[in-house]
Amino acid sequence: MRISMVSEHASPLAVLGGVDAGGQNVHVAALSTALAAAGHLVTVYTRRDDPTTPERVPLAPGVEVVNVTAGPPEPIPKDQLLPFMPALAEGLAADWQRSRPEIVHSHFWMSGVAALDAARRSLRPVPVVHTFHALGVVKRRHQGAEDTSPAEREFLEPWVGRSADAIIATCSDEAFELKTLGVDPARISVAPCGVDVEHFTPDGEAEQRGRPHRIMTVGRLVPRKGVDLVIEALGLLTATTRDDVELMIVGGSLTPSIAASDPEVKRLLDLAEGLGIGDRVRLRGQVNPAEMPAVLRSADIVVCAPWYEPFGIVPLEAMACGVPVIASAVGGLTDSVVNGVTGLLVPPRDPDAIAAAVADLLADPARLRAFGDAGRVRVRGRYSWTRVAAETARVYRQTIARTARPRVGTSLTGALR
Ligand code: UDP
Repeated sequence: MRISMVSEHASPLAVLGGVDAGGQNVHVAALSTALAAAGHLVTVYTRRDDPTTPERVPLAPGVEVVNVTAGPPEPIPKDQLLPFMPALAEGLAADWQRSRPEIVHSHFWMSGVAALDAARRSLRPVPVVHTFHALGVVKRRHQGAEDTSPAEREFLEPWVGRSADAIIATCSDEAFELKTLGVDPARISVAPCGVDVEHFTPDGEAEQRGRPHRIMTVGRLVPRKGVDLVIEALGLLTATTRDDVELMIVGGSLTPSIAASDPEVKRLLDLAEGLGIGDRVRLRGQVNPAEMPAVLRSADIVVCAPWYEPFGIVPLEAMACGVPVIASAVGGLTDSVVNGVTGLLVPPRDPDAIAAAVADLLADPARLRAFGDAGRVRVRGRYSWTRVAAETARVYRQTIARTARPRVGTSLTGALR
C-alpha cells in the first residue's frame, strides 16, 4: 500500500524528551518503519519547524519524511498550531495530487483536521484512519484550567472522530472514551503502540547505580507525569522501611544549563530537598533512545505515576528490558501492565501506594525477577512493531475496501481561514 502518515507536531526526526516530543514521535517513526519493512511505501508529513531542513528526508528504507511549510519554520508549542492546519492541508493536498496515497493515517487531533480536509478535496477522497494519541476531554478532566489546548479542540476533536473512516485507539480505555464522544464503535479498532523488541532487551550493559537499589521514572518533565509523586514515595520509603534506594529521573531538558532554568526541574529538586532526600534523587536529563536500554536495565523497578496516560510507551520499554513496572491504574497502563504478573498497578496520585508497592517488591527478589521475566514475554508476544504494523495494515485494508465508493468532498479548515 502507498501510505501517508500525517503527524503535525511530532516529527519522527525530532529529539525525544522535550515538552512536545515524546511517544507520538516514536510511534510514527517505528510504525512507518515496520510498515515499510512489510513492503509498504510510507510518506510521513510533518510541519516544518526549521528553515534549514530539506523538504524531503529519508527516514528508513521505504519511509520518507516531508517537511511541509505551514506557519513560521520554527518550533511552535503544539497548542498554538491550529491556525496553521489549513496551510498544512494545502501542502498535503498538493502532494497527494502528484502522488495519491491509498490510505492516510493521521496522528493527534490537529493532524486529523488537516488530513480530512486535504483528503476530502478530491472527487475520489482518500480514506482517512485516525489515531488520537491523547484526548482533549481527558486532558481537560485532569488538567482543568491548566489545559492550554485551543478552545476549538472541544468540538473539532469529536468531529475528527466522527468524520474519519476508521479510528485506531491505542488502548481499550481510549475506545470507551471515544464511544462517549459519539464515535461509532463499529469504526473503532484497538492497536497498541509497540516497542523495538530487538533494541529493548534484558541482555546487555546496565549503567552503574549509586545505591544498592534504584527506582526510575522516564518521560517528559511535565506535572501530569507525576514525577513529584514518585519523589514523595521515595521520601516515605526512606523515612519508614529502607534508605538504600535512589531515584533516577530520566527526561526533560538536555543540558544542565537549560535544566537549571526549567521551573519544573526546580520544583522537583526543591521537593526532594524539602523531604531530605536530595542526595538520593538524580536528574539524568534527556537520554538518547540508543542509550535507553542500558539506563532502564540499571533500575530494579520503573515507576510510572501519571495522573492520566493515553498510552505510555515507557512501561513497555521497561518490561521489554525485563524490568518490572509499578504504574498508576489509568488509561493505557491498565492494558499494558498486568497487575500481579508484570508489575503492580496502584491508584493514581497516591504516593503511599507507590511507596508500599516499591517496598513489597524490593523485599521479594524472586517476585521481582518473575515480574521482569513475565513482562519481557508479554512485550515480545504482544507489542512488537511487526505485530502492531500487521494489525494496523489490516485496519487500512478493511477501510480501503469499505470506502471504495466515491463520495462528495467537504472542507472544514476553510472555516478556520
Ligand atoms: N524518551 C527518550 N529519552 C528521554 C525521555 C523519554 O528517549 O530522555 C522516550 C521514551 O523512551 C519513550 C518516549 O520518549 O519512548 C516517551 O513515551 P511515553 O508514551 O511514555 O510518553 P509521552 O511523552 O508520549 O507522554
